[in-house]
Amino acid sequence: MPLPRVFHTPPAMRAWSREQARAGRRVAVVPTMGALHHGHEVLIEEARRRADLVVVTIFVNPMQFDRTEDFQKYPRPEADDLRTCARRGVDAIYFPPVEAMYPDGFDTRVEPGVIAKRFEGVHRPGHFTGVATVVTKLLNAVQPDAAIFGRKDAQQLAVITQIVNDLDLGVEIYGVPTVREPDGLAMSSRNRRLSPAARNAATCVPSALNFAASGLRSGGRPWTEIKSEALAVIEAEPLASVEYLELVDPATFTACEDHGTGLDALVIVAVWVDGVRLIDNQQIPARP
Ligand code: AMP
Repeated sequence: MPLPRVFHTPPAMRAWSREQARAGRRVAVVPTMGALHHGHEVLIEEARRRADLVVVTIFVNPMQFDRTEDFQKYPRPEADDLRTCARRGVDAIYFPPVEAMYPDGFDTRVEPGVIAKRFEGVHRPGHFTGVATVVTKLLNAVQPDAAIFGRKDAQQLAVITQIVNDLDLGVEIYGVPTVREPDGLAMSSRNRRLSPAARNAATCVPSALNFAASGLRSGGRPWTEIKSEALAVIEAEPLASVEYLELVDPATFTACEDHGTGLDALVIVAVWVDGVRLIDNQQIPARP
């Protein structure tokens, strides 16, 4: 199997993509910040189903980090990532240095709307402006037919879907269900930073979500009651502290008072576990 082509600048990336388009081949992109894990590999598989050629982008985007320390500590196992892409038969990797993305004089931002002002937007000021700007730039460089994102970052997926529609970017967006460890913890590049004790403690996040989801699915109890019991699941863990746990409308990220009939809902959660911030969510299908 041929090794993936690696491109470092927008013009080089775009030239390749245009050549593919001229040859009538569909391209799907998987945007990532590297430190690839099995969750990313499932996104790559989905990309393969959606197109003839798969591009993975690897860029740790300084603009979307609200804390410098988090940016600096973000894992960057580049050789491993290149091997994972090769093993998965990725066709091209877009791996720009920061200077190629944000050269001197860079002065534009893509400012997402109201969805981006809630939850993650409140707790990570500027985060979604950074995400919106970098995703727009990545899509412009790769010019894909389709782009694949994880539902683990559900609010990010909602923000990106809105931008792609509003700005007529002409890219099909696909969301992939969250890939989990056997004990239920959502896979994340940040999990590598958990100490063994914190890794054990982190299972309180999926436990709280499962608790909330089964309470909602069985019906009959108010969300406020289910929520306080789900919060207690996390609070029972000394290494964990909750930032938010809420029931929201998955399209708008407005908080729901309760899980009404006929509507999908989403339970979203953000938890600090021993200095590492984890987010997760669970979809609650509409009740008949
Ligand atoms: P990241 O590298 O963490 O920025 O993530 C890149 C893409 O992979 C995003 O679309 C994430 O939502 C997605 N992703 C990360 N973790 C998972 C997971 N456990 N399951 C599914 N998708 C994921």
